[in-house]
Amino acid sequence: MSPPREPVIVEDKVKGVVIIDGVRVWGFVDDRLGECLHTRIYSERYDAYFCAADNAWFERACGDESCEFCRDRPAHPFDGALDEPNMRP
Ligand SMILES: [Zn+2]
Ligand SMILES: [Zn+2]
Repeated sequence: MSPPREPVIVEDKVKGVVIIDGVRVWGFVDDRLGECLHTRIYSERYDAYFCAADNAWFERACGDESCEFCRDRPAHPFDGALDEPNMRP
């Protein structure tokens, strides 16, 4: 049995993007690991941290129907529009 594959994560701090297995995500890499001991990546689009290896969020959505971040947040990060910046000014 080989261990589960982990994605290749490349951060471009100047552009404010993280490239995960070639997929561009607006955000940055946190300096702490998650509970799963994978890298925590911040999504600017959804204002939340997620695990790329597990395709999972580290925090629950806030549940506020009018919240511009959580309203469109998909169940799994890569199902959504991580490659779009947040549209707020
Ligand atoms: Zn993880
Ligand atoms: Zn919210």
